Amino acid sequence: MKIFDQHQQDIAEKIESQAEIKQWKDWKWQIRHSIKTIEEFENLTGIHFDATEKEQLERTINRFPLSITPYYLSLINIENFRQDPVYKQAFLDSRELIVSPCEMKDPLAEEHDSPIPGITHRYPDRVLFLVSNVCAMYCRHCTRKRKVGDVDFIPSREQVKKGLDYIRNTPQVRDVLLSGGDPFMLSDDYLDWILTELQAIPHVQVIRIGTRTPVTLPYRITDDLVNMLKKHHPLWINTHFNHPREITASAKEALTKLADAGIPLGNQSVLLADVNDCPRIMKELVQQLVRNRVRPYYIYQCDLSEGLSHFRTPVTKGIEIMESLIGHTSGFAVPTYVIDAPGGGGKIPVMPHYIISWNTNKVILRNYEGVITSYQEPDHYEATICDRDCANCKLELDITGSDEINAVGIEKLLSDYDDTISLIPANNARLKRREGDSDE
Ligand SMILES: *Cc1c(COP(=O)(O)O)cnc(C)c1O
Repeated sequence: MKIFDQHQQDIAEKIESQAEIKQWKDWKWQIRHSIKTIEEFENLTGIHFDATEKEQLERTINRFPLSITPYYLSLINIENFRQDPVYKQAFLDSRELIVSPCEMKDPLAEEHDSPIPGITHRYPDRVLFLVSNVCAMYCRHCTRKRKVGDVDFIPSREQVKKGLDYIRNTPQVRDVLLSGGDPFMLSDDYLDWILTELQAIPHVQVIRIGTRTPVTLPYRITDDLVNMLKKHHPLWINTHFNHPREITASAKEALTKLADAGIPLGNQSVLLADVNDCPRIMKELVQQLVRNRVRPYYIYQCDLSEGLSHFRTPVTKGIEIMESLIGHTSGFAVPTYVIDAPGGGGKIPVMPHYIISWNTNKVILRNYEGVITSYQEPDHYEATICDRDCANCKLELDITGSDEINAVGIEKLLSDYDDTISLIPANNARLKRREGDSDE
């Protein structure tokens, strides 16, 4: 596809009679002319819904707002829109109004693990920092649907300052993940200010930005933006391509600019029913991503957010996709498939099984082709009893600073320096009975 093809030209002229490529490629023009109503959508695409469907769509839009950039709209295959992966991610579906009993407003409990508004501090050494509540496009499968476009959630400069204070006062935070909304909906200057403040914090070692603009608004990646970002290395960017159809000439141009600026690029896809729940589509996607210097990072199982049941696949579909990727294509093209634990447990990786069996001297494995093989364990291996006295260890590891000493979770059970022999859920009934035991 050319950067400005006839179809895009037609849409541009319907929006503004004299529109030229200059305007089309101006991201602010794109935002100003984002499609926010069903009527605009009908006018620009020529797709028309009958009265019954329209009435359902109206009810949907009242609950979950619509916003599509003219650019992303131009990627819809109008002839076959009902099957179209771009249409399905961008346009209303009345099934969004169906809320199943397992679904939640905040399935990941981001607001529970939130020391102050806008910050989710779930993992020991990194935080999620929501600095914007708007996006170029409102993805229909958004996990933060509860917040998008809601004026109650606009992070004010005051709130962002408080977030920065929290990070400043929390020395274990070495990685800050800016998200939203989309941080690239902020102005260059405002984002520059946030990045400068973060960089000045000595314990912040890396900054990450999560943005879908390379997919939905690639013109946002301007030379000015990239020149500003370059000042803030080490800066990593994760984007969100879900389907090979989204990797257009414009998207490639945006990715090239970011990669040329030395920014490592990752991609987080969401596994979506009838959009990309297919091993061939996913393989094509990851291969096209690496060709554009984007490392596939995660495939997410679709969260239990309200109104997403029509997008959800069984977990087995994700495992099947991983089976079709691991070994079948370049290792660095294979993302990690994760389920973000409902209730706030964080991301849990899920994979097919490769270890089939083992004894004390052999591990039996199978590969992607179905070959079953054995790995001979070493005859002599002197197990080191580790008491975490790293200064006196034969391995040279000069750790300075405040690495936490205590192991967590299964790590604790494996360790020599912690006496824990089992992990027991809180309020375990058997242990409660013991408490009543007079012998104890
Ligand atoms: C995903 C996520 C992170 C980052 O996790 P990584 O696995 O390091 O990419 C951090 N905080 C929260 C709350 C997250 O959801």
